[in-house]
Amino acid sequence: MDAPKFKRVILKLSGEALAGTMGYGIDPEVVSSIAVQIKEVVQLGVEVAVVIGGGNIWRGVAGSTKGMDRATADYMGMLATVINSLALQDALVQHNIVTRVQTAIEMRDVAEPYIRLRAIRHLEKGRVVIFAAGTGNPYFSTDTAAALRAAEIEAEVILMAKRVDGVYDSDPYKNKNAIKFTQLSYIDVLNKGLGVMDSTATSLCMDNRIPLFVFDINVPGNIKKVVLGENVGTYVGG
Ligand code: UDP
Repeated sequence: MDAPKFKRVILKLSGEALAGTMGYGIDPEVVSSIAVQIKEVVQLGVEVAVVIGGGNIWRGVAGSTKGMDRATADYMGMLATVINSLALQDALVQHNIVTRVQTAIEMRDVAEPYIRLRAIRHLEKGRVVIFAAGTGNPYFSTDTAAALRAAEIEAEVILMAKRVDGVYDSDPYKNKNAIKFTQLSYIDVLNKGLGVMDSTATSLCMDNRIPLFVFDINVPGNIKKVVLGENVGTYVGG
């Protein structure tokens, strides 16, 4: 069997990844299929931490453009990520994967608070750790949370799960002549404004030399392929 290329990874799932074809909310079948993909990687001996977005439920910007206070709307978004995190934890437990949720905003009846060394200990024991509530700060994104946590726990790579099979020069759903990149630098992502992650998150990855793999989560087995070094998406690095 091929050996995994990484020992510790962060998987970034957008909230929409949990919604499936509904486009909103949580589809338990889709969440279960993601749990299966995560299990395949855990069984290779890879330490897996997950950061989940909340866009399938709520985005702060959407509220603020309709007149809400931005910080309040962002806290609502962070709470949405906790809902998603509990859904994924439930699915992983149903597939017999020991999982801990750690929240950046304390809610001890629901999950552990984020404690860096405790998270690392869980990972070393083969548990999946889900980082919920983003960074705990408004005006940030869960992409930034993924970059921050990756730096903190010394993950070797961020696996950016998308609904397309990599990074294109334009939206491949709108432009059939869109060209896919196999490899990009962070500065290309920033300069070209490519839809990999927001600029705050990209800068954090660039400054801390955290590479990214952008790939299609909807293809079963894809997370495992990325971890085994198969070229199934776009690599972003320094
Ligand atoms: N959010 C925040 N701070 C963070 C992470 C998230 O305020 O550190 C809020 C923000 O309102 C954001 C929402 O939570 O719109 C959901 O996160 P995100 O948009 O990153 O989710 P995704 O697009 O990945 O589903």
